[in-house]
Amino acid sequence: MMFRSHMEAALTEARAAAARGEVPVGAVIVAPSGEVIARAGNRTRELCDPTAHAEVLAMRAACAATGSERLPGHDLYVTLEPCPMCAAAISFARIGRLYYGASDPKSGGVAQGPRVFSHPQCHHAPDIYDGISAEPAEALLREFFAERRAP
Ligand SMILES: [Zn+2]
Repeated sequence: MMFRSHMEAALTEARAAAARGEVPVGAVIVAPSGEVIARAGNRTRELCDPTAHAEVLAMRAACAATGSERLPGHDLYVTLEPCPMCAAAISFARIGRLYYGASDPKSGGVAQGPRVFSHPQCHHAPDIYDGISAEPAEALLREFFAERRAP
């Protein structure tokens, strides 16, 4: 089967998050059938919820759609390297494959910082593919924070 990236859909969610004044991060979850079953962008400000990261919201929606607390065989695409909280939730959800775009030296928890999936207490690690459409994901974040810093 040909690999088809769903990162463009995640980028669309990231752009929508930026338009809402949220940090532009987007995520989608793809079922084993190839169908996108959840899409989300950051909503921490809107929901007054520090855990409302794109990955968490997408996993909640996908779990609700499948009627299960776990998503084995599912792919999660996210525009930015997951933070430690999201990485732990991805492990709990038994996500099969994780595709992410930009790396996050400041808050990432996959390739840097706590490296959640490499930790001995981590019971499930997805297959990880990084740097997928990293350039547009980085550009979105750069623009978002540059605008905020502007006088
Ligand atoms: Zn997160």
